[in-house]
Amino acid sequence: MYIIIKFVYKYKYMIFFVLFSRWNKKVDCNKLKTSMIFGRKKVCYFVVLVTMGLFYIIQNSPGKSAQRLEDAVKTMDLYEERLNMNLNDTMTTGLEVARERERLLMAIEERIIGFLYRIPDYSYIGSLETYLKYRPNLLAQFPAAVPLGKGDYSISSNYGTRIHPISEKEKKHYGIDLAAPSGTKVHATASGTIKELGYSPKGYGIYIVMRHRFGFETIYGHLEKVLVHKGETIAQHQIIGTLGNTGNSTGYHLHYEILKNKEKIDPRPSFDLKKKIYARLFKGNPEMEEEN
Ligand SMILES: [Zn+2]
Repeated sequence: MYIIIKFVYKYKYMIFFVLFSRWNKKVDCNKLKTSMIFGRKKVCYFVVLVTMGLFYIIQNSPGKSAQRLEDAVKTMDLYEERLNMNLNDTMTTGLEVARERERLLMAIEERIIGFLYRIPDYSYIGSLETYLKYRPNLLAQFPAAVPLGKGDYSISSNYGTRIHPISEKEKKHYGIDLAAPSGTKVHATASGTIKELGYSPKGYGIYIVMRHRFGFETIYGHLEKVLVHKGETIAQHQIIGTLGNTGNSTGYHLHYEILKNKEKIDPRPSFDLKKKIYARLFKGNPEMEEEN
């Protein structure tokens, strides 16, 4: 029964369309007597389009998607808790614990892609912490690191409202500024592709836009040099350019932005995400010291 409901839910649009066209044939809209300017068939199509449109709007309304997000977070939190309990379980026998863990990991796996696409920012990543210890490779696919090499930067401006250094007006700063010497290597914070390269003399200067999985994008601005080309596939931590002072900038720094589902978000929580998970995974492993 559950499988049938799941199937119907998954293919609801297709089933709806098939049922409608069957009904359409049965009624045979063409043969119905009508004095209307538009044929019955056109009216039928119009009605089905409006119905489908309404259905789509209801399904994707802000209230509905907020509800879905809340449900997804609740489910993920529950699995996270159970996974954590499983990890610390010393009462049950090893085999049982291992089986239960496998089951939990599979259940999370089934939901995680949708969850990662749905979440609006990093405040929901906490629900995945234990899981990510098992699948740390996932951290390579979304921004989870600092875009500069270890230790050679300082944060000169945070995400949020600030007084702009040139215009002296209060302005929202949608990224984070990392000050470092000219020519410092700029790394991709996640694997992905180069979406756009450009030069904006009054804005970002020389900049790179990268597209990543799960609805993430990153922007690297005020660069000195670009070392990649448009459409290129990039690995996490790969060097994509060098830090500069181009565009609307008063000193050598990298302006770094993260977009999630087309909205600009605070990049700070992403900086130590990979480091934190990896540090817990490889406690005392000197190789990990090289990760940034
Ligand atoms: Zn900036």
